[in-house]
Amino acid sequence: MQSGKIGVTTENIFPVIKKFLYSDQEIFLRELVSNAVDATQKLKTLAKLGKYEQDVTSAKVTVSVDEQAKTITISDNGIGMTADEIDKYINQIAFSGAEEFLDKYKDKAEAIIGHFGLGFYSAFMVAGTVDIVTKSYQEGAKAVKWTCDGSPNYSLEEVEKTTVGTDIVLHVDADSEEYLKKEKIEELLKKYCKFLPVTIVFGKKQEWKDGKYVDTDEDNVINNTAPAWTLKPADLKDEDYQNFYKELYPMAEDPLFYIHLNVDYPFNLTGILYFPKIRNNFEVQKNKIQLYCNQVFVTDSVEGIVPDFLTLLHGVLDSPDIPLNVSRSYLQSDQNVKKISSHITKKVSDRLQEIFKSDRAEFEKKWDDLKLFITYGMLSDEKFYDRAKDFSLLKNVDGKYFTFEEYKTLIKDNQTDKNGTLIYLYANDPETQYSYIQKAKNKGYDVLLMDGHLDSHLISQLEQKFEKVSFSRVDADIIENLVKKEDLQESALQQAEKDDLKEIFASQAATEFMIQFENLSAEEAPIIVTQSEYMRRMKDMAQMNPGMSFYNQIPDSYNLIINSNHPLIVKINEDKKASIGDSLAKVDSEIAPLKAEKTQLEEAKKDKKDEEIPAADKEKLDAVSKQILELERKKQDALKAYGKENQKVKQLIDLALISNNMLKGEALESFVKRSLSLL
Ligand code: ADP
Repeated sequence: MQSGKIGVTTENIFPVIKKFLYSDQEIFLRELVSNAVDATQKLKTLAKLGKYEQDVTSAKVTVSVDEQAKTITISDNGIGMTADEIDKYINQIAFSGAEEFLDKYKDKAEAIIGHFGLGFYSAFMVAGTVDIVTKSYQEGAKAVKWTCDGSPNYSLEEVEKTTVGTDIVLHVDADSEEYLKKEKIEELLKKYCKFLPVTIVFGKKQEWKDGKYVDTDEDNVINNTAPAWTLKPADLKDEDYQNFYKELYPMAEDPLFYIHLNVDYPFNLTGILYFPKIRNNFEVQKNKIQLYCNQVFVTDSVEGIVPDFLTLLHGVLDSPDIPLNVSRSYLQSDQNVKKISSHITKKVSDRLQEIFKSDRAEFEKKWDDLKLFITYGMLSDEKFYDRAKDFSLLKNVDGKYFTFEEYKTLIKDNQTDKNGTLIYLYANDPETQYSYIQKAKNKGYDVLLMDGHLDSHLISQLEQKFEKVSFSRVDADIIENLVKKEDLQESALQQAEKDDLKEIFASQAATEFMIQFENLSAEEAPIIVTQSEYMRRMKDMAQMNPGMSFYNQIPDSYNLIINSNHPLIVKINEDKKASIGDSLAKVDSEIAPLKAEKTQLEEAKKDKKDEEIPAADKEKLDAVSKQILELERKKQDALKAYGKENQKVKQLIDLALISNNMLKGEALESFVKRSLSLL
């Protein structure tokens, strides 16, 4: 029996390992199973090279738990170790046997997982004492047992072992006893080892018999040794990809498309990415991309490794070239990671492009579920925008899809305004904006549907990218103003009549409405309610951006646009003339001479210094101004009083509000009552 000290410089290496090196205690199992898998792969490589004659086809790793003895054992029938090798590979920590092996058999080695550094020593995170019982594949090798109690002291002795391979026995610490539960170990194996390339067995399959579960003769195999991503795309059918998706995410809806990644230069990357259906909500992403390193699960938080928008995808990435166990910020600046990230972005856009080109109908069918993903990509990644602009679609309110280019061609002739700006009209709620959409359609215009979560951002982006283009929501103004063509028609009303009507309508409209007149055709609606595109966008943005909350404090304001050519408006003007025209005319006739006098007085004081103007004239001017103001107020009051009593005025305003879905509650109720009484 030999004993000695492990080749580390500090006495306290184990507490250090325990505390700092591995924040994730549970990975000890991943490390030890990976080593065991490596050992079997190494033996296979040797067999291929003719350096080992025995059968290697039944390579297997067995994990077992003995709750009574408080041990976990990881056994393999791999390469094994001689006493010298233990000394070299285990006692001298810094020596990575895997590295040496790789060097020796560079191109022939089956994938070596020895990537995780201090792998073996992670055993001490859960075990006070660890035994290695191992027998090397080499002719005449003696089996040895190495034992270490967590201090740098170890012992090494010869033991009986008939088979080639290694058993690692962990004598589990009192404070890690949770790992003695079978369920816990099975859970960890399923998490980290589900796709390892060598069969991993954990106990026997069980069956329900006589009221309880009992072991069968069949091994309980944890893993699928040849997961889809490790196979050649040519050997896989569509169905295989679908099945693999189900294997990864048993509960998820079928994915839309997939991409099989397979790169070996200048970095190594395999994997399958799936496009899930993403509707209008970034639901908490429970199905995430899983990152593997030579089929060993590493993590499912791939932020920093792939661009943000790609984290919406599902599937598997496997690369030995992604540095593990390093900080996120380090990851993001790593050259390999950058290359991998932009490669994936390119592949994703290539795939979308390919589907778009080869089966446009299918692509359109899936567009609504893809849109959020693509929009997010375009907004967050310039390069992706440049690629996606050729296959990204716009959908109109009739459910037709267009590429950016197609849509431009469609609307170019009709929707260019008199300044040469191309106007993209859109709705985000076709139900409530129905009447506006119809008005646009009546003009032969097309209206886009922009009801997505990110569409307001997309609109800003497209306005920047496209030249001389402006997006307007259909209800932002009357259609004649949204796409301003030649000057509008004549007005049936004089300016003075409009001024009067403004007072009359103001008497019945709430204060947030700004009253304006437009000379529309007689067939257009008498009154239209609009909300300015600019204010609405500012408010929408304020909702998402706390820095802009100022805009939220501004009350909503709308425009009440009166069509001065509509017969009903003309009629109200006539009614007004008939009923209060005389008294208004009387006031006007009083105002007229006063205004003349005022003009005269102002004329006289022009070019004079203040002290040169006679005091009497100044007083006179003040008095005349005051009289005019009083008379105008009187006129206003008369108009207001008339307006307030005018049911038609109220009715017209309410009708405009109703077609905007803005008449609610009590106002709606009294509208109904008024309508009945008017009938
Ligand atoms: P790494 O795997 O990164 O080299 P480890 O500390 O996990 O580092 O292992 C050190 C070395 O010990 C391995 O490279 C390998 O040569 C040897 N080793 C560990 N476990 C086994 C095993 N189950 N069978 C054979 N050799 C092993």
